[in-house]
Amino acid sequence: MKIICIGRNYIDHIKELSNQKPMNPVVFLKPDSSVIAKNQNFIIPSFSNEIQHEVELVVKINKVGKHIDKSFSHKYYDEIGLGIDFTARDIQSNLKEKGHPWEKSKAFDNSCMVGNFLKKEKLEDISKIEFSLKKNNEIVQSGCSNDMLWKIDELISYVSQYFTLKIGDLIFTGTPSGVSKVESGDILEGYISSIKMFTLKVK
Ligand code: ZN
Repeated sequence: MKIICIGRNYIDHIKELSNQKPMNPVVFLKPDSSVIAKNQNFIIPSFSNEIQHEVELVVKINKVGKHIDKSFSHKYYDEIGLGIDFTARDIQSNLKEKGHPWEKSKAFDNSCMVGNFLKKEKLEDISKIEFSLKKNNEIVQSGCSNDMLWKIDELISYVSQYFTLKIGDLIFTGTPSGVSKVESGDILEGYISSIKMFTLKVK
């Protein structure tokens, strides 16, 4: 199983990190070893002083495909969930400066929180999925799939030009603004509309 992540897919988040709006989707991968096991906590790694949460809609691939045309993308998933792309922002800034790959800041053990999934037909409109993240009971991030620069079907088509999609692969679709540092003791809760998709403790 592979995890394909999209960066810079929401304008407000591009602005908060002073990044350039990309010409094409920014793509990176996380290995399966990055996934936090069910009911486990997120443990802040010792190598970073700035771990930030990025809440993201997650698409679960249900069919093998490559070079998928946008008009057929909807046939390749029937579940959408919510997760967190944990990012060691201090390490990432350093790597970015040097023009080095991001893996040490994005693909480390436990950097990928995968919450529950909802069947597509449970969601009224895929193009208007509202989601949010609460930290210690306060909303810190909220977004809507409508604000993605590249929508879910476009992302599936785009990434499948490079990577064969396999059953169970996950696509993290990018984060809206509001990313912030997590501290030991924080409780993170993710929602799609008013449905709770996960609770995660930071240790
Ligand atoms: Zn992300």
